[in-house]
Amino acid sequence: MKGRILLIEDEKKIAEIVKAYLEKDGFEVVHAENGEKGLDEVKNGFDLIILDLMLPDMDGEEICELIRKDSDIPIIMLTAKSDEEDRVKGLSMGADDYVVKPFSPRELVARVNALLRRTRPASRLLSFNKGILVIDTDKFEVNKNGTPVTLTPTEFKLLQTLAERPGQVFSRAQLVNIILGYNFEGYERTIDAHVKNIRHKIEDDKRHPQFIKTVYGIGYKFTGIPDEN
Ligand code: CA
Repeated sequence: MKGRILLIEDEKKIAEIVKAYLEKDGFEVVHAENGEKGLDEVKNGFDLIILDLMLPDMDGEEICELIRKDSDIPIIMLTAKSDEEDRVKGLSMGADDYVVKPFSPRELVARVNALLRRTRPASRLLSFNKGILVIDTDKFEVNKNGTPVTLTPTEFKLLQTLAERPGQVFSRAQLVNIILGYNFEGYERTIDAHVKNIRHKIEDDKRHPQFIKTVYGIGYKFTGIPDEN
């Protein structure tokens, strides 16, 4: 999986085509068909947002501004407006790139890849607590005190999700959504089982975890201290 993309687009046909092309290129795509649903999804841990400028309930510029209030996630705007002035306006709202409709899905996929290359840190090594815990998100490897730790793909995804956003509290429902790709009623408790397994593998003292802490009544947060590169 190359990354998670949130597609906020009301035109069903365009959304289907874009989703198919991105998935074929190795991305996971969550589609929201209006602004409200899109904003609701933003918190669920994405690598990039594709945002249509003209939505039935809100306009893309407004959504872009709202997202930018607390996130620097890469945003590509989709729009039918093509003149220079609108382009500049879209970018000043905080969008990183701009694709004018009608566009070729291949071009959009290329822009997505280019933007991710531009915005992602060169190293995909996440290191915490002075190198005690190191997560290599390219190789799907985890090292604890220099020793490789074997995690299942689900455990890895869960740990990566938490570790990429230290301090951010994730609810169980959010984590289910991220790990399984959609809301799965009744599966929240499976997250507890996965966390238990991860703790068993990476924590010195499972009763006093230093990396994944339980947030009572809500879910979990990652409390490792990121090392400076
Ligand atoms: Ca539209």
